Amino acid sequence: MIASATEISLVFVLALVGLALLVFGGARVCHSSPPDWKALREEMVKYQIEAREVTNPRVLRAMRTVPRHRFVPESQREKAYQDRPLPIGHGQTISQPYIVAVMTELLDPQPGDRVLEIGTGSGYQAAVLSGLVEKIYSIEIIPELAETARIALAAGGYENVQVITGDGYAGLPEQAPFDGIIVTAAPEKVPEPLIEQLAVGGRLVIPVGGWSQDLRVLERTPEGIRTTKLFPVRFVPLTRSEDVPEP
Ligand code: SAH
Repeated sequence: MIASATEISLVFVLALVGLALLVFGGARVCHSSPPDWKALREEMVKYQIEAREVTNPRVLRAMRTVPRHRFVPESQREKAYQDRPLPIGHGQTISQPYIVAVMTELLDPQPGDRVLEIGTGSGYQAAVLSGLVEKIYSIEIIPELAETARIALAAGGYENVQVITGDGYAGLPEQAPFDGIIVTAAPEKVPEPLIEQLAVGGRLVIPVGGWSQDLRVLERTPEGIRTTKLFPVRFVPLTRSEDVPEP
């Protein structure tokens, strides 16, 4: 049977509509609008952080403000505000948002404080501290991560953070004492030099252990060191200069 002219033109029109849908539908996927990062951050703070009883208003404000998605690799960006750690390359991770918030609250940051961080990683924890204290020295043992963090921190205008490449086990005696020290990789035991570099009233927040770790706060009081053990955590191990993996 031979198709009529009307039938042929109907098929032609349908084909055109299909083509248009393909082209413009596809274009819509390619140029989809970027995620509403601010809204994602609000949700992160409400459901992951406030809901788990982090209450320090300055800490909550910092968590609402710092663009976490700018501190993770491009491939992880969409997942930046999820309730979990994310890979940042070189076998390392950026901590879960809740853990960053808890450790920051435990440090009890004050506007005039000078803080030492061991394990810069992505630079995110340092950026969160940036608005809460006067100065942050952050030591990272993997040079490539230190460099990426420096770039992200400079791009965000976090000018009071100084990233130092090296093994943080020995702390930074030339800038000691510190009002706060935060360690974001786990040693088997608390490094003695870090305790020594705490000012009176200063706090050291640190995960300790091997396979099984717990989060601890060591506070230097006029009488000595007071240690509080909190809850189980899972951090990457604190490595020493001699066991840094080959690139
Ligand atoms: N605070 C980071 C989390 C980083 S994960 C963030 O906000 O993203 C821990 C980091 O500690 C890793 O980058 C790891 O390379 C680093 N690290 C491990 N051992 C170290 C050491 N001895 N000195 C300094 N950094 C160390």
